[in-house]
Amino acid sequence: MTRIAFIGLGNMGGPMAANLLKAGHALRVFDLVPGAVAAAVAQGGVAATSARDALEGADVVISMLPASRHVEALYLGEQGILDAIPANALVIDCSTIAPAVAKKVSEAVTARGMAMLDAPVSGGTAGAAAGTLTFIVGGAEEALERARPLLGAMGRNIFHVGGSGAGQVAKLCNNMALGVIMAVTGEALALGAAHGLDPAVLSQMMAVSTGRSWATEVCNPWPGVLENAPASRGYTGGFGNDLMLKDLGLAAEAAMGVGAAIPLGELARNLYALNSKAGRGGLDFSSVIKLAAPGE
Ligand code: NAD
Repeated sequence: MTRIAFIGLGNMGGPMAANLLKAGHALRVFDLVPGAVAAAVAQGGVAATSARDALEGADVVISMLPASRHVEALYLGEQGILDAIPANALVIDCSTIAPAVAKKVSEAVTARGMAMLDAPVSGGTAGAAAGTLTFIVGGAEEALERARPLLGAMGRNIFHVGGSGAGQVAKLCNNMALGVIMAVTGEALALGAAHGLDPAVLSQMMAVSTGRSWATEVCNPWPGVLENAPASRGYTGGFGNDLMLKDLGLAAEAAMGVGAAIPLGELARNLYALNSKAGRGGLDFSSVIKLAAPGE
């Protein structure tokens, strides 16, 4: 049994914390949203009154926050927890953030003698709930060995891709591909529907053909095609459009840093920006299909 401070209990962090509780670990949980804390308490967690309070007695600190600024503020901000992390604790940030910020926070944590991993995830809210996430890890091998049993309680695949910040780079590469694939899958289904095809039949065909992807098979953007996809519940409860927009912005920054050309990634970033401006920033990113099929 590991004593864990779990900070950030949103669409991903909530079910991840629930799986750690199910595996028998002791969690002190904190989120700015009281309802999110209450949900984790109902699963067996102990409510903390602040991020600092969550750290009491922790062997491991796990954070799952929206973006770079939240992670930087949590660890290094004026009210930051850096000086309150128990000695010898292992820190694991699972948020998707800028590689440079991951490195900066990790340097500050390791300078105090603790180990830190960047361990962003892939697999969506369904993967978080089912405990089948993929962890994409940057940091020291020994730290990963310590983290492995906990990551194994929340996920199925663990990839060690390099040193601090490398997990974030790999995650951005994955999400850039996902962002492009989702947008073009939406276009393909809208094109077929405009020709009178049934998007469900078109999706079933694509799912066993060369156009298959996570977007056709798991998170199909057309409402009603897959019962459990966000599209079938008003695009709620998935991976927010604005989180995808953030990731594509991070990919663009990362590309500029090394002079890489990512024309499709940049185009996709603009599509998700337009989708956000159309009022769908808080909805699942598969709602980008509305740009191609506004009436559906
Ligand atoms: P979310 O917005 O649902 O949850 C984030 C939670 O963090 C919220 O509950 C918020 O209240 C809380 N929070 C923010 N600042 C805080 C602070 N200082 N202290 C405590 N709590 C704080 O986001 P999410 O969908 O759970 O995503 C979290 C991260 O995981 C993001 O970086 C996202 O890019 C990444 N991610 C999401 C998905 C997905 O499908 N949703 C998939 C893979 C990766």
